Amino acid sequence: MKTVSMIKKNKLLVLVALAYVVVLTISPEKAMSSVENSLYYLIEMLQVLPVIFLLTVVLESLVPKEVIMRGFGEKSGFKGNLLALLLGSISAGPIYAAFPISKTLLGKGASISNIVIILSTWAVVKVPMLANEAKFLGVNFMVIRWVLTVIAIFAMAYITGKFIKKKDLPADANKHMTLEIRADYCIGCGLCVKMLPEYYEMNNNKAVVCRSPDPKEALDLVKESIIKCPSQAIVFSEEEKAS
Ligand code: SF4
Repeated sequence: MKTVSMIKKNKLLVLVALAYVVVLTISPEKAMSSVENSLYYLIEMLQVLPVIFLLTVVLESLVPKEVIMRGFGEKSGFKGNLLALLLGSISAGPIYAAFPISKTLLGKGASISNIVIILSTWAVVKVPMLANEAKFLGVNFMVIRWVLTVIAIFAMAYITGKFIKKKDLPADANKHMTLEIRADYCIGCGLCVKMLPEYYEMNNNKAVVCRSPDPKEALDLVKESIIKCPSQAIVFSEEEKAS
């Protein structure tokens, strides 16, 4: 039973192992070359990922959510798009390093569109890559490709943002949100109740939580009410649901 649940949890790994066994049976030479390639990437990942994890820890613990929401959130508008373009452009390292950072940014309130811009820019128009492109293919080639690629990236970001919502992502779907109002901090201005009457209500001149929000429905709205509360009385935490 334990083995079955382990296999279920690591489906991808099991599939890769099976693929190796099949290739080894059919063509041992190709299997050896696959192992060599895999080892190469494994070593590269081991060199890059510690730095990336360190960056995500710094981002998680030192950069306030409000800063990320203001810079890259739903309401950051075109300025946020440009900031995302800049962040992706000055990045370094392979594209898989961008995923943990993107997940952290998403968790801190970055919008789906801006994550698409960061990932796409990181993959195809980051500065070190442009410098090499200009050197080998010429400046004109590089500039025209850059302009067209950026237009395409913005279009992709817009379309993805329209069709994919945060509730669709596994990171949010597996979260349980706990919302709380510190009565001693609340000054009873009623702003949160006005913003989200389905989650907050007034009781003896203090706001209280009347319904626990579902992250699928209201993560961004709740985060906005937290930022707008003048006395920082609203606190919330997100926890992974027990599987
Ligand atoms: S916005 Fe903040 S201070 Fe105003 S009622 Fe809500 S919790 Fe209280």
